[in-house]
Amino acid sequence: MTATTLYTAVDEAATFRVRMVDLTSVAKHVAEVHKLSPLATHAMARALGCAALYPFSAKHLDRVSLQFTGEGPLKMLMVDVRILDDQRLGVRGLANRPQAWAWGIHPRSDEIGAGLLPGGGLTVLLQEPSGKATRGQVDLVNGEIDDDFAAYFRDSEQLPTDVQVRVRLDDDGMQRCVCRMVQALPGLSSLPSLPPINLDIDVVTQMEQVVGTPMSVWKASATQQVEFFCSCSRERALAGIEMLDRDTLIDMIVVDKGASVTCDFCTSHYAFSADDLVAILDTKDKEPSLPS
Ligand SMILES: [Zn+2]
Repeated sequence: MTATTLYTAVDEAATFRVRMVDLTSVAKHVAEVHKLSPLATHAMARALGCAALYPFSAKHLDRVSLQFTGEGPLKMLMVDVRILDDQRLGVRGLANRPQAWAWGIHPRSDEIGAGLLPGGGLTVLLQEPSGKATRGQVDLVNGEIDDDFAAYFRDSEQLPTDVQVRVRLDDDGMQRCVCRMVQALPGLSSLPSLPPINLDIDVVTQMEQVVGTPMSVWKASATQQVEFFCSCSRERALAGIEMLDRDTLIDMIVVDKGASVTCDFCTSHYAFSADDLVAILDTKDKEPSLPS
């Protein structure tokens, strides 16, 4: 899996921070894994872009989950971002309706808000390294996902924020996905007007235009690798099976001759034989009962 680079820098006058990433490879991978329709591909790329752009601080955060819901054909998209080794960021996503489509929504246009609307909201779940979790929620502004994500920051942190995730689709699927977040630093009450994302220019050149200086003299600049990452494992799948009650386990052994678990995020399969399940049943039988 190819990793991509997220660039961060502060403008010349130190009034706002820009984050930009070309997320094409990751968004393409997720669309292929989940066999997404054009509409779902576009919406998922935007959601993944928001996850990758989240101002992630490894000191304060372990994982951030974003859930976009609505009554439209997409129903729900969930993405998350977590910190991996070497400060790399891992993102992944799942679509409730991978085949979503609707008359009147052109998946190749920049307006796909009707995929989620009407109604709906964005739920942000922040998980700290200590395990403590906090949850924030805002109503959808227009269902465009990037705008809704920006609105979350204006609402929760009162910081002028602009988020753009632009996607190009053709008959072969996703061709390009470029993401940008511009956030005011404390003291700036409104962002300057910014050029729209140009899908034909590389990310560094576009960053230079917004920041106002060449990359070599960017202030407070940083780079971080972003890649597709799923935290599922055979152990986790097994832990899920171990929580089942005896009756269900016995049915799986006798009727199904085993069990298989598929990860919703990456579609990895984990198969367990009847013998594996008998071993789990044995462990349950040996669990010490409470002294009477
Ligand atoms: Zn997985």
